[in-house]
Amino acid sequence: MATLKAVRGTRDLLPPETALWNRIEQTARQVFARYNFGEIRTPIFEDTALFARGVGEETDIVSKEMYTWEDRARAQSEKAQSLTLRPENTAGVVRAYIEHQLGEGGKLQKLYYIGPQFRRERPQKGRYRQFWQIGAEAIGPPSSGSESPLRDAEVLEMLATLLDELSIAGWRLEINSVGSAADRARYNEVLRAALEPVAPKMCADCRRRAVTNPLRVLDCKVPEDQPIIETLPKIGNSLDQESKEHFAAVLAALDAAGVPYHRNARLVRGLDYYTRTTFEFTHGGLGAQNALLGGGRYDGLSEALGGPRAPGIGFAMGLDRLVLTLEAQQRALPETIYIDTPCDAYIAPLGEAQNAPALALARELRKSGLRVEIGDGTFRLKKSLEIANKLAWRIVILGEDELKSGIVTVKNFLTGLQAKVSREELSAYLKGPVGRNPA
Ligand code: AMP
Repeated sequence: MATLKAVRGTRDLLPPETALWNRIEQTARQVFARYNFGEIRTPIFEDTALFARGVGEETDIVSKEMYTWEDRARAQSEKAQSLTLRPENTAGVVRAYIEHQLGEGGKLQKLYYIGPQFRRERPQKGRYRQFWQIGAEAIGPPSSGSESPLRDAEVLEMLATLLDELSIAGWRLEINSVGSAADRARYNEVLRAALEPVAPKMCADCRRRAVTNPLRVLDCKVPEDQPIIETLPKIGNSLDQESKEHFAAVLAALDAAGVPYHRNARLVRGLDYYTRTTFEFTHGGLGAQNALLGGGRYDGLSEALGGPRAPGIGFAMGLDRLVLTLEAQQRALPETIYIDTPCDAYIAPLGEAQNAPALALARELRKSGLRVEIGDGTFRLKKSLEIANKLAWRIVILGEDELKSGIVTVKNFLTGLQAKVSREELSAYLKGPVGRNPA
């Protein structure tokens, strides 16, 4: 009798390798908890329409790679339904956000997931048909600060920390801004015009894309086309003032937090609801499939799915690729902490100028093992106090004076007392007992 095997593109994970998988997942959970992200688990299959709308009908994923079937009706009154194994998790998370009205009350939702995804791709090293992703999304109504460049920088800084804590050496962050939907439409026209004279010299795919979706020409990997692509106009020149400022603020916050990055004007996403920041973390050790993770802002996605306005930013990281990268460099990773208690501190920047320094401070405190949430410089102090009171034991106030003097104001919600603490002593201070603290 012929022996049965795991289906092409799927595989069994066996000990001792599974121990490494567990340690990566634990480290991710621990880092996410420090940044106040909570776990969401969505179904592995969804209505096909979710991905058609949420990922985009014209993408490779939806047009070629989905495992879709007609689910038979069980009763005469029921209709057959087209279902799909999830090829990614952002659409499912945003569907859940809408379905459970998670934006009510003006709250920013910070959600992470860990789980298998399915795409009918041509299998090769680092590319499977069932693979695992670890991802996170920060999404909320505009009043929650979900549009703030500080959120983008926080997510990127968290990823830098996670990769460092996983002891992944030599990662590279590439970043770009694709602007608003209007910026992109403008750029598409500029690009289409620039491609007209040169497209005939390019590969067949590019010749087609030059007409149907010019942005995707920038993804072309054919070596002969690269010199032509280098001469094409850059999207950065088509951004409006607001998008330029948003991007500059993201980069300034990354500089302040000490996260290295490389600007890559070719990094784009073709769909209308992808806005502003886009990024990728790559690793040289992975070969052709060198992307460890990808992500960006999707300010129009909730509305594309029929939900309320809910700007957001997120990423998805390939767990299989992390394992491949790590297998050579296994090290002991820390224990998991859980997020069912308030954060140690909430940092409230008192103006937009304090956003970047606030991120730098949060990074310092989180590195020392504290669980910290961060507000936004556009919030009034009263609003920050209200949010902080629900989320954290203490609020750390960071205004212009505090920045100049290096002494911050800390208010303890349990005792109601307030204290001035120097930056050097802040971490030790916040690690002290909440109830018995003098402040
Ligand atoms: P994407 O959702 O296509 O932006 O992918 C995000 C990340 O998931 C990539 O950077 C990869 O690390 C990982 N990934 C995507 N597709 C696969 C696959 N077929 N096999 C393994 N990892 C994948």
